[in-house]
Amino acid sequence: MGPTVDPISPEDRIPARADVVIVGGGIIGTSAALYLAQKGASVALCEKGHIAGEQSSRNWGLVRKARRDPREIPLIVASLGLWDEMNERVEGETGFRRTGIAFAAADDAAAARYETWLGYARPYQIDARMVSGEEMEHVMPGSRGRWKTALYCATDGRAEPQKAAPAIAAAARRAGAAIVGNCAVRGVERSGGKVSGVVTEHGRIACNTVVVAAGAWSRRFLKDLDVTLPQLKVRASVMRTAPLEGAPETAFWCSDFAFRRRLDGGYTIANGYVNVAPLVPDSFRFFANFLPALLMESKSLKLRLDDRLMQEWREATPVPLDQVSPYEKTRVLDPEPDRAFLRQALERLKQTFPAFASAQVVQEWAGMIDVTPDAIPVISPVDSVPGLIIATGFSGHGFGIGPAAGRLVADLALGASPIVDPKDFRFSRFSDGTRIRPMSTI
Ligand SMILES: Cc1cc2nc3c(=O)[nH]c(=O)nc-3n(C[C@H](O)[C@H](O)[C@H](O)COP(=O)(O)OP(=O)(O)OC[C@H]3O[C@@H](n4cnc5c(N)ncnc54)[C@H](O)[C@@H]3O)c2cc1C
Repeated sequence: MGPTVDPISPEDRIPARADVVIVGGGIIGTSAALYLAQKGASVALCEKGHIAGEQSSRNWGLVRKARRDPREIPLIVASLGLWDEMNERVEGETGFRRTGIAFAAADDAAAARYETWLGYARPYQIDARMVSGEEMEHVMPGSRGRWKTALYCATDGRAEPQKAAPAIAAAARRAGAAIVGNCAVRGVERSGGKVSGVVTEHGRIACNTVVVAAGAWSRRFLKDLDVTLPQLKVRASVMRTAPLEGAPETAFWCSDFAFRRRLDGGYTIANGYVNVAPLVPDSFRFFANFLPALLMESKSLKLRLDDRLMQEWREATPVPLDQVSPYEKTRVLDPEPDRAFLRQALERLKQTFPAFASAQVVQEWAGMIDVTPDAIPVISPVDSVPGLIIATGFSGHGFGIGPAAGRLVADLALGASPIVDPKDFRFSRFSDGTRIRPMSTI
């Protein structure tokens, strides 16, 4: 079972028309809804399950500049500014705190990669730096780890995945957006080639703009529009402890484990290294697109043949819009966690940080991360379908940039000056000859 998310009361109306319909109520969809509604647009956000039911409540909660793909740095810098004022803006608690994050360098090669990254960060005056010796002990007290250095950024932070998107959604509603849970969007209608509405399980909503912020479902959703998004899924597992005294305040990552303190005094802990990629029909279809990423991650990514293969094969079949869609059959994608990797991480954490020796694990869960071949998102209109905006493929680091990504979506939908240059996130990069690959320095 997934984590318990702050609930949002049911919507008492589904509008017949909206300027913008958003498909998906994760951090991206809710942030877009907030900024659109606050700028006066009429918005309907449809979520097939509950707000933040999938990745946006299941993630580690890191809001980080450090080790960020250089193409995302302007977006995360803008996002941290938006997180700073978010509690006030939403009149609620997102859990955002700037408590710092440290990434241990396992060896000289890792330290050299962090140095390279610092070079990318320099133009943005990011206060990240390498720490070692006594300073390392100060940043991460009580560790028996043998790392010589770490990349540390004191102004990076954390927020609460089980609180943030619901608080943002509630504020979007107060600003006039319709936030509709248990409402799958089955498909998009077009008139003269342009978006003219969506068909939901509860009826039609007329609109000229649709934002697809459907996380792991975006590929399936876009396929019905003949829009091919190269996107695969990776399963990542997490555990949470009961409140714990004496463990570090600074969030920490090393190749064995990662942890960050929660607002409730417990810790979110994960294996810092291993993720599982279930083999599905799209794994073969997009093999060439993902080959550079696969080679780069060959040690940490575990390929698995399991029931996802048949599940996705069945789900791929197109369904008429007056019939029950795959989105209604899986209200919340709730994969089983990979417990062996969690056990291994916990054991190593306890050996390295004795403060965790008495840690009591109270919950475990997993989430399906939506990845693109270059591990950066698509935040972009689509030339072939006027009125369609894609905001997806955040590749395991979309929570931190969520607010700025949502703002960028709002800017694109309203034709306003964009909060950052969106060129690196354009959908057409997959077909315009751009060399598509993840950055190897992070
Ligand atoms: C274990 C784990 C750890 C992570 N750690 C971090 C981290 O520390 N920091 C960080 O920045 N990021 C992290 N991430 C990544 C981050 O969680 C995601 O990038 C981010 O939450 C993506 O948000 P989203 O809104 O795009 O997608 P989601 O949160 O997945 O939301 C998409 C929503 O769309 C809905 N939907 C889909 N199809 C339809 C439809 N047809 N109709 C209606 N609704 C639909 C789904 O139900 C879902 O709720 C992590 C992810 C995982 C799984």
